[in-house]
Amino acid sequence: MNVIMKHPLFFLILTLLLLISCLGGYDYLHYCINVRSGISSNQIHYVSKAVLTKRQYSQNGWYYDGHDWAYVRWHHRLTGTHTINGVQYHFAKNGKQTLPYRVNYHYQLSAQQGSNQRAHAKYIILHDIGNAGSGREGAAFMKATADSNQAYTNFVVGSQGTVYQIKRPGTVAWGAGTTANANAPVQIELGHTTNQTNFAADYHAYVNLARDMAGKYNIPLTLDRGGKETKGIKSHLWVSRHLWGDHHDPYGYLKRRGVSKQQLAHDLKNGF
Ligand SMILES: [Zn+2]
Repeated sequence: MNVIMKHPLFFLILTLLLLISCLGGYDYLHYCINVRSGISSNQIHYVSKAVLTKRQYSQNGWYYDGHDWAYVRWHHRLTGTHTINGVQYHFAKNGKQTLPYRVNYHYQLSAQQGSNQRAHAKYIILHDIGNAGSGREGAAFMKATADSNQAYTNFVVGSQGTVYQIKRPGTVAWGAGTTANANAPVQIELGHTTNQTNFAADYHAYVNLARDMAGKYNIPLTLDRGGKETKGIKSHLWVSRHLWGDHHDPYGYLKRRGVSKQQLAHDLKNGF
């Protein structure tokens, strides 16, 4: 032992440092580890609005109040930029996620419309609207006919990159047959446009939304890979081939607007 280590102050400082790292610093250490290695989780807590402003939490994972998302790690909401399940997320100073798209709730179904059943987190299913309708028109149609037609998706994207929320993510939508629906916490419809600038905005929001939700539900960012046991992002065409149905979307529409399946797979995997 050298002279410094024999000094009584040395032990006092050492004890103080240990105490600090056990209290506040403990979180900080884990925070550092998470930032370096990326976080992996698929826990989502569906909560009321008040929960998103709590000071302390007992459980880790995502928190969602129907509008806002937060991610809790070591009792507190994350702030700043973090990679979770391979997707980069940004959180504001108040701990709420800054979404990479804008959400419109005007055509959201009521609690009595559609299904409130929780879906298994296996697939994110991608569609296009299948007629010349815009995103807004598609969303309005779903709101008007969800129960009589028994058809809707969780989101419709379109009308210059707007994300219309029809039914909150995590719940079964009626878009692709019983098995697919029960295993898809998120189904996304893409509205049509013939304006290439508007299409670019729609396509960016479509891909950003799919990636955002895939990361949250711990679903791989792979497109149409494998059979029905393989988790991932799936086209309605894949669902028809592997589960049920005869729809081929969204590839026909995407191709007309200049996006190949390969391009979509690349963008879903890497983002923009
Ligand atoms: Zn479809």
